[in-house]
Amino acid sequence: MHKFAAITAQRPTWAEIDLDALARNFRTIKGRVAKEVKVMAVVKADAYGHGAVECSRRLEKEGADWFGVALPEEGIELREAGITKPILCLAGFWKGQERACIQHNLVPIVTTHETAAALDTAAGEAGCVAPIHVKVDTGMGRLGVRFDEVKEFAALLKRFQHINVSGLMTHFAAADDPLCDPLTSNQIQRFAQISEIFRTQGFEPEYHHLASSAAIYSRPEACGNMIRPGGILYGLWRDILKGSGDEPRLQPVMALRSRITLLKWVPQGETIGYGCTFEASRQTLVAIVPIGYHDGYMRGLSNRAHVIVRNSYAPVIGRISMDLTLIDVTGVGGVELEDEVTLLGSAGQAGAQTLTVTAEDLARISGTLSYEITCGISRRVPRYYISPEGVD
Ligand SMILES: *Cc1c(COP(=O)(O)O)cnc(C)c1O
Repeated sequence: MHKFAAITAQRPTWAEIDLDALARNFRTIKGRVAKEVKVMAVVKADAYGHGAVECSRRLEKEGADWFGVALPEEGIELREAGITKPILCLAGFWKGQERACIQHNLVPIVTTHETAAALDTAAGEAGCVAPIHVKVDTGMGRLGVRFDEVKEFAALLKRFQHINVSGLMTHFAAADDPLCDPLTSNQIQRFAQISEIFRTQGFEPEYHHLASSAAIYSRPEACGNMIRPGGILYGLWRDILKGSGDEPRLQPVMALRSRITLLKWVPQGETIGYGCTFEASRQTLVAIVPIGYHDGYMRGLSNRAHVIVRNSYAPVIGRISMDLTLIDVTGVGGVELEDEVTLLGSAGQAGAQTLTVTAEDLARISGTLSYEITCGISRRVPRYYISPEGVD
């Protein structure tokens, strides 16, 4: 019997979200910066696929000071789930969403005169002053007021009576890459100058923040008074924190599991799956696992990834299809129908070693970033929230 009773009437494919690991990661990250530095937990994109509501509830209990989402819609979801801490919309808002931001107490970033004006009008109508964080582009070349246009922008902002610049922020382009150190240093310097410009123009923003996961580890001295960790909260770091010295004590939060639903022997010389990309070089015991690329188990993993079954690694063979994946279990002693298959995460032991497949492993194989692996686990895969330490 599976430990999750709810799964008995469903396809046996699920993701486990270890909220205790999330909490431990949060504490580890918090411990890296000075006590007075606030932590904005970035939970955009449904907490990188881990479930924004559940993760935010736990992180709020652990002492997260702020939450970062991309869209106001994501912020509203958190408010409706009872999250009370301040929420920053990291991608701003779209035309017509000003009032929703104000109503739900969401703080947007502002990067243009038009959005500032729209928010100012909406706040005026609502009879309040809306806080904003101004995002400055110090070298990323993406969202933000260009650093060399900040002076004019600050002067424009002064005309608005109903918005209050409560934060200044920027985002690093390549804080994970030692080859880009000069750019990162430039970005830090420009940000300091920008803070000065705002001060001389009479603004007193409470928050100054620059650092996402990479910079929290590579530039802890340049974090301002708030940090914005995303990936590292979820234990994704091997492809984010390159060359930052010691292995951080961060643990993966998501595991992806399924069960063997069919076993069959295939004789030597036969091919299996779409496109005949795998030919059995010997009599092969093939297991079918009910997960496919629609679930986020990417087709690019075909013939290259491995999974864990009964204390062994078993290779994925043939093409991964939309709903099904085939694995070679010829060498897995005692393999049976309904055996648990771990596609991502840890399971079983080989001697003293725990068998593990990380999101970074899957990302490397499919030519992407670990973030895209967990973000890509689709809604069709139910999430089960576990908290082995017993904290709700
Ligand atoms: C997504 C995002 C973050 C978090 O980035 P990680 O690399 O996941 O830590 C921080 N700040 C901004 C502005 C973001 O958009």
